[in-house]
Amino acid sequence: MIEDLRAIVGPAGLLIGADIGPRYLNTRGRGTAGRPLCVVRPGTPAEVSRVMAACHARNQTVVAQGGMTGLVGGGAPRDGDVILSTERLTKIEALDRDGLTLMAEAGVVLQTAQEFCADAGLELPLDLGARGSATLGGVISTNAGGVRVIRHGMMRDNVLGLEAVLADGTVLSSMNRMLKNNAGYDLKQLFIGSEGTLGVVTRAVIRLKPRPKAIVTAFTASRSVADVASFLRHLQTEMGAELGSFEVMWPEYDAFVRARCPALKPPFAPNCGFTVLSEFLCGSAGDAEPRVEATLGGALKQGLIDNAVIAKNERERAAFWTVREGAGEGMRTLLPYFVYDVSMPIAAMESFGDRVRADIATTYPNSTVLVLGHMGDGNLHVVAAVGSGAAADHRAVDDIVYGIIRDLDGSVSAEHGIGVEKRDYLGWSRTPAEVAVMHTLKAALDPKNLLNPGKVL
Ligand SMILES: Cc1cc2nc3c(=O)[nH]c(=O)nc-3n(C[C@H](O)[C@H](O)[C@H](O)COP(=O)(O)OP(=O)(O)OC[C@H]3O[C@@H](n4cnc5c(N)ncnc54)[C@H](O)[C@@H]3O)c2cc1C
Repeated sequence: MIEDLRAIVGPAGLLIGADIGPRYLNTRGRGTAGRPLCVVRPGTPAEVSRVMAACHARNQTVVAQGGMTGLVGGGAPRDGDVILSTERLTKIEALDRDGLTLMAEAGVVLQTAQEFCADAGLELPLDLGARGSATLGGVISTNAGGVRVIRHGMMRDNVLGLEAVLADGTVLSSMNRMLKNNAGYDLKQLFIGSEGTLGVVTRAVIRLKPRPKAIVTAFTASRSVADVASFLRHLQTEMGAELGSFEVMWPEYDAFVRARCPALKPPFAPNCGFTVLSEFLCGSAGDAEPRVEATLGGALKQGLIDNAVIAKNERERAAFWTVREGAGEGMRTLLPYFVYDVSMPIAAMESFGDRVRADIATTYPNSTVLVLGHMGDGNLHVVAAVGSGAAADHRAVDDIVYGIIRDLDGSVSAEHGIGVEKRDYLGWSRTPAEVAVMHTLKAALDPKNLLNPGKVL
């Protein structure tokens, strides 16, 4: 097998033994990586096809890897797997200023693609914390969302065309560049969010947006989740599609930041309630801030918020975002902890926040539970530090969190996918009929079960 692969990709494209560095085995604490047979690094999409055909001929299992930032162990190899890394598929092929599209290979790093588009005065509609390592193929395969979903949707909404290599090496090229194409089934959707189990994404056409003329960022505080939800509705009504982010933090998160993250400076006094970072991507520059101010003023008058501040400059804007995204140092003081990424109807969020804190505290009285997330997308994150990182405790907390989600008709995975970590819980968010159709699709496209086996299903 190794010689077959070396013949396709050349010596530079193949790693074995001690040359397989930690990058390929990093599970981010989600399970343990097995011992892969080798790492194959094709330099072109055509080589991906030849690699897959060679593996198919020998019934060899393959796991695709992009930047290895995934948080559910989806890219982790099992014993004997071939790792197919897209790290050499880094060609940006074309940027179409009229059609507003970017055509690029799967291994292009998200931030590289963002900067390439920004240089042309355009915006790639996806942004997330892992931008410096995550690849286009990875964000497509996990249907990533990020902090602009309320404005631009998830990757599924922004991929116009895609090329994937199937388990037997067949190249399925659907490199559509139009917004509208209803000629039969939309096959590209099969590969978006299927975490490398149905095909290897090699190239894509991504929809671009004009860059906003002005960005206005606000921090507010409200007394209850119900007020936060009403505030969100108010912003959607008054600012329309200009609302780009709406990030809510439960009161315990604010207290945690003050206690454990000395470098972060929350803008309000302690005990200010539920805080929200909202950001507006405005189509006009001159009146952007006054319009946001007037909208926040309306919310104050209606009692939906009782405190508000607008970032006066880029430094303040960055400081606001750091409160939301930069708590890593404080988080480390909580270790070990378990993180969750779940979604539910907005109307269920208050109940979720109350129950998750109460139910974990019942079993683990000295636990710390933080709740925060992208409320506008129905997506909340939970950080639970229960004083133990043991597998049995992880399982017990999973059961609590996902049990509440099942009761509330939510999803056990809002963003990061299923991978290995959430496999046992797929049926808590999907009906038996849905899971059966997933198996049917998998069997149709990969009858030998060679692509990323043991993941998702
Ligand atoms: C700090 C941080 C912040 C994050 N924030 C967000 C967020 O706000 N919103 C959000 O949605 N996600 C978020 N994520 C998750 C992020 O979206 C994923 O980690 C990312 O999309 C994976 O890209 P990757 O290139 O690293 O893929 P990998 O981690 O290498 O792989 C992820 C999965 O995709 C498969 N895969 C990778 N490349 C391909 C390919 N070319 N073809 C087929 N399958 C492939 C792998 O087999 C694996 O199952 C965050 C992650 C981190 C670490």
